[in-house]
Amino acid sequence: MERTYVMVKPDGVQRNLAGEIISRFEKKGFQLVGLKLMQITPELAGKHYGEHEGKPFYGELIDFITSGPVVAMVWQGQNVVSVIRNMMGKTNPAEAAPGTIRGDYAVFMGNNVVHGSDSPESAEREINLFFSPEELV
Ligand code: ATP
Ligand code: MG
Repeated sequence: MERTYVMVKPDGVQRNLAGEIISRFEKKGFQLVGLKLMQITPELAGKHYGEHEGKPFYGELIDFITSGPVVAMVWQGQNVVSVIRNMMGKTNPAEAAPGTIRGDYAVFMGNNVVHGSDSPESAEREINLFFSPEELV
């Protein structure tokens, strides 16, 4: 069954949105197979966002994602990667449709509350980056 890596970003944790975000994916029918609250180190942040290295917003992105704890999760289900991306809404919350997580809870590009892998290949890479196999059920 397909799996994806999802995290509630530091702004989402600070604003007490973790429960709401988890609840949406539970109600949709996806299965939670891994979950932990953690502080991302700059080294791990660099690996996670390696594709963005050199872009103008990279420094801010790393500072933001390491600024406080995140809720790291693995979710499982049919087409879970693309369905969760749709439920998150567009990267820029100003353009994200109402009813999506970013559309409902975020305003700024830098503080967009939630991350979800953008492809099954990214999901595989990110799950291995954040979780060891014994941490997943
Ligand atoms: P994420 O990977 O964080 O889930 P995403 O896949 O929707 O978001 P990416 O293109 O991977 O979007 O960008 C990663 C993050 O970098 C975005 O969530 C956003 O906070 C920031 N970002 C992306 N593009 C820009 C930009 N043009 N200006 C400022 N910040 C940006
Ligand atoms: Mg991305």
